[in-house]
Amino acid sequence: MALDLRFDGDPVLRAMAVPITVFDSGLAGLVKDMFAVMYAAPGRGLAAPQVGVSQRVFVIDTTWKEAAPTPQAFINPQIVAQSGDHAAGTEACLSIPGRAFSVVRPTWIDLEWQDLDGMAHQGRFDGVEAICICHEFDHLNGVLITDVGTEQ
Ligand SMILES: [Zn+2]
Repeated sequence: MALDLRFDGDPVLRAMAVPITVFDSGLAGLVKDMFAVMYAAPGRGLAAPQVGVSQRVFVIDTTWKEAAPTPQAFINPQIVAQSGDHAAGTEACLSIPGRAFSVVRPTWIDLEWQDLDGMAHQGRFDGVEAICICHEFDHLNGVLITDVGTEQ
């Protein structure tokens, strides 16, 4: 499956992505291909709508540019709690090339998600991981950093 990046203005980026109900080799293939697109871009995160697939899955790897890779895939993610504290950080988006935005995000989040086998997981994320997860989570709801950030 060849996946192409979609850019701001493409309606798929504004759609509400649908939950994933089938955990099969097709899903595993989609995630594998999403990692390939993300690393090639090169980026630290990619949500399925960014490759034209309106389903609730995203991938991140916040370390590979500076250190060893830590690929993580999140299927049907839900942010179930977040910090009261917020902080502003600079974010870019593979679908909005060449622009940077200051975005205020919670400093930590509690996330529930499923893996490629449909197994449920939960965890707390902070720092760059929390920022990246919030950014990709927004993509699943049709939200872009042009909506929630201030261009720098
Ligand atoms: Zn993005």
